[in-house]
Amino acid sequence: MAEALGGQLTDVRNQAFDTTSTLKNHLRRGHSLLRAPVPRLYLSATSEADVVAGVKLALDQDLKLALHGSGHHFAATSLPQDGLTIDMSKLKDVYLDENTGIARFQAGLDSMELCKATGPKGWHFRVAHVTSVGIAGYNLGGGQGWGGMAVDQITAMDCVNVWEYPKQELKIVRVDADNHPELFWGLQGAGMMLGVVVAFWGQLQPIPKDGLIRATSAIWPLPLASKAWEAYNHYTGNHQHSPLVERSAAYVTIPGKGPALVFSASDWSTGDDEAARQTDAGSDADGDAKHIAWARDTVQKISHLSRGTFISNVEFSRPEDTRQSFPEGSWARLQAVKAQYDPRTLLQSLSFRTGE
Ligand SMILES: Cc1cc2nc3c(=O)[nH]c(=O)nc-3n(C[C@H](O)[C@H](O)[C@H](O)COP(=O)(O)OP(=O)(O)OC[C@H]3O[C@@H](n4cnc5c(N)ncnc54)[C@H](O)[C@@H]3O)c2cc1C
Repeated sequence: MAEALGGQLTDVRNQAFDTTSTLKNHLRRGHSLLRAPVPRLYLSATSEADVVAGVKLALDQDLKLALHGSGHHFAATSLPQDGLTIDMSKLKDVYLDENTGIARFQAGLDSMELCKATGPKGWHFRVAHVTSVGIAGYNLGGGQGWGGMAVDQITAMDCVNVWEYPKQELKIVRVDADNHPELFWGLQGAGMMLGVVVAFWGQLQPIPKDGLIRATSAIWPLPLASKAWEAYNHYTGNHQHSPLVERSAAYVTIPGKGPALVFSASDWSTGDDEAARQTDAGSDADGDAKHIAWARDTVQKISHLSRGTFISNVEFSRPEDTRQSFPEGSWARLQAVKAQYDPRTLLQSLSFRTGE
């Protein structure tokens, strides 16, 4: 089977992983808050044709499919339990028209790699705030990036035509405002549940001469300030043991909007060697249960301040996790897109829960 696919196909159940294997590294060092699910097969694609062949394998064998960009989703959604993961991380080609800023970039790039490919030529794509974030999963969740939403720069996506199989052969087709517009709409936020994207087309913006990026922060209207401040103090107060909590806050006036509270807090305390060592050993002694309980408790305490969830950060532990990431009208529309473009639920379902 591996030979027919071109890329490297691993049967996870039979494989004794060496320490350099991508999957092994993912399971050891992935960003998942949870214990990662384990796929049955793992295909390291080396070409877009490999991706098409991998999709065919999943459809023919009735396997759940997920794509691995850089494995940054906290819920490890790139690893479907007993399914097939196609690792896209070797697909890093970038085409850039230096005169117009129109670019085609493959789904295996991370944010820094894309910046490096376009920045020196004077063009900018709104990549994620952390350099190692995979551009594919990030774009497909909408992409809250440097300078605005990534999807506002995307003009088309090259996708595998899953919805036409087996009536038609699998191939790569253009999805944009004219071709499959409903799928194009859905991919710009609910993409991880709707399509297999091998490359994105975007209209990049010129980098201003005096630079582009200065700062990023969370902003709350003043009427909510005391509650936000309380939650913030609670968060940072609980972490005094760590010398690695970074925090800042300021009252500001936003022109045209009025007074607001701006704050940020980051906890870098989980990177100590001992915790990493224990995680490597797969033991519970790394405190997973404690950290997960703390995160869930905090989410619950501040949920009255929120209007929903963000699909790219959600834990998928509750059926409503996905639904709350979309407005009511969009949710109904998504059901129709899912039914038309992923009729066999090859990718995760709209009511997906971690581990499924
Ligand atoms: C440290 C950190 C910083 C982050 N910063 C930001 C930020 O600034 N802004 C922001 O918006 N988000 C941010 N995120 C969230 C990030 O956008 C998501 O985790 C996103 O899913 C990462 O993309 P990935 O390709 O690495 O995803 P993976 O974990 O590899 O995959 C996530 C999901 O996307 C699907 N997927 C991946 N590639 C494809 C593809 N080619 N076609 C179809 N589906 C695909 C997978 O099947 C899976 O379900 C951050 C996350 C982390 C861990």
